[in-house]
Amino acid sequence: MRIGELSLKELRNSIKKGEIRCIDVIDDYKKRIEKFDKELKAFVTIDWERVYQRAKSLDEEKSKEGLLLGCPIAIKDNILTKGIRTTAGSKILENYIPPYSATVVEKIEKEGGIVIGKTNLDEFAMGSSTENSAFFPTLNPWDTKRVPGGSSGGSAVAVASFMSPASLGSDTGGSIRQPASFCGVVGFKPTYGRVSRYGLIAFASSLDQIGPMARNVEDVSIILSVISGYDPKDSTSFKSLVPPYHEKIKEKIDSFKFGVIKDEELEGIDEEVYKAYKETLNLMEKIGGRKVYIELPHLKYSIYVYYILATSEASSNLARYDGVRYGLRLEKETLLSLYQDSRSKGFGKEVKRRILLGTFSLSAGYYRAFYGKASMVRQLIKNDFEKAFKEVDFIVLPTTPELPFLLGEKSEDPIKMYLSDLFTIPPNLAMLPAISIPVSLGKGSLPIGMQIIGNLFDEVNILKVANLLEKNLSFLYNELKRRYL
Ligand code: GLN
Repeated sequence: MRIGELSLKELRNSIKKGEIRCIDVIDDYKKRIEKFDKELKAFVTIDWERVYQRAKSLDEEKSKEGLLLGCPIAIKDNILTKGIRTTAGSKILENYIPPYSATVVEKIEKEGGIVIGKTNLDEFAMGSSTENSAFFPTLNPWDTKRVPGGSSGGSAVAVASFMSPASLGSDTGGSIRQPASFCGVVGFKPTYGRVSRYGLIAFASSLDQIGPMARNVEDVSIILSVISGYDPKDSTSFKSLVPPYHEKIKEKIDSFKFGVIKDEELEGIDEEVYKAYKETLNLMEKIGGRKVYIELPHLKYSIYVYYILATSEASSNLARYDGVRYGLRLEKETLLSLYQDSRSKGFGKEVKRRILLGTFSLSAGYYRAFYGKASMVRQLIKNDFEKAFKEVDFIVLPTTPELPFLLGEKSEDPIKMYLSDLFTIPPNLAMLPAISIPVSLGKGSLPIGMQIIGNLFDEVNILKVANLLEKNLSFLYNELKRRYL
C-alpha cells in the first residue's frame, strides 16, 4: 500500500485501525514535497516542526475520531492560519502572522486534519495563472512550461503532484475551478454563504467563497461536509442544516435534466475543449440525463460585470493595507507619504491596476454609471439562471475556454487573461455552486475539465452526478502517478 495513493477515507481508516500513524503519512508526503516542490513551487510556507508536532499529538490521542483524522490538507495562503505566516501572495503581508485561524481551518483541525502548508496564489487572489504572486510563479505538473491556472494555483498543483491529498482554495470568479481544470483535479465552489468566509482575506466580498480541491469527487465531498455551515462570525453565511455530503453522494439519482447552451455561444473556444464538452454531454446522457437547450441571454455580459464589481469591492477591501494597521510599513515624515510608500511598494502591478479601476468605478458621480449599472446586470444574469433552473437540474459548461497556456503568454495582456474567466464567472455572479471535474487529456497530455453548475444550495446533487460521471471516465491519474508518486 502506498500512502500517497490513499483517498481521505482510506487514510483516516488506516490510521484508525492502527495500520499507519499520522507521522508516517507526513513522512511520506514530505518526501515528495522535498523532491518536487523545488521545481513546481506550490508552497509558500511549510513549518515542518509544527506539522510534526501536530501529527505526533494526534498519534498520542486515544480517541481516533474525526472525518479527516491524519489527513494533510494544503491551505491557500489567503486563508488565515494562527501562528503560521499568511501572505496572500503579497509583499504587503510578507511577514504577517495571523493571531487567529479562519473558521474553515478550525473546522478541519477539529476533524483531525493536519495543515501541511500554505500554497501559492496570485496576489490577493487576483489572476488566472499564479504568475501574479509576489514571490514566484507555480508551474503546471503536466508541463512545467505552462501555468497551473489561478488564483489557487498552488493548491491545485499540490494535489495534482501528490504533495497533498487535498487542499482549500478560494473562488471569486473561478479561482478554484480553473486551476483544477488546468491541473486535472476536482475543484468545487460552493453556493455563496454555504461556507464561512471568516478569516479569508477579502478580495470581492459579494463573490468570494472558500472550497475544496482533491483528486476525486468523494474526497471533495468529505471536505465540504467538514467546512460548510452557518458561522456567527460571518453574517453572510447561511443558516440551514448541512447535509452529510460524503454520505449522500452514494444515493442514487435516477433521471435528471441538464441544460446546455447553443454552439454559437461557444464560439472561439479551443477545438479540443469543444470536443471534450460534446463527449461529456454524451456521457451525461449515458448516465441517465436528458439534454435540454437553455438560454442564458445575459451570460455574455458576465466578464464586464465581474471586472467592475470585483475591482470596486477590492478597492474598498484593500484600503485597510495602509502601513498603519497591517503588514509592510515604510516609515516616513508625513502620514500621507507613509500611506503612499507602503502601498506603492507593497502592492504588485495587477493589484494596483484593480485598485485604480475599482476606485474609479466607485468615485462620486460615476458610482451609478458603473457599480450601479453592473449590479443591475448581475441581477439579470441571476434571473437567467433562475429561469433555467425551473427547467433543468444542472447546467454543463466547459470550465475554461482553453488548455493550460504558457508562462508569460498572457501576463502582459490583462484583457486576454480576463477572458479566460468566461465560463467560471457566471456562477459567482449568480452565487451558484459549481464543480470542475477532469474529463480528458488534450494535445500534449494537457488536462481538460468540465463544469457542472447546480441550483442554489444543491451541492448534494452536483456531487452525486459528478461522482457518477467520474466512475465512467477513463482516468487520468496513471500518468501523474508515474511521474510523481
Ligand atoms: N481570474 C479571476 C480574477 O482574476 C478570478 C479570481 C478568483 O476567483 N479569485 O479575478
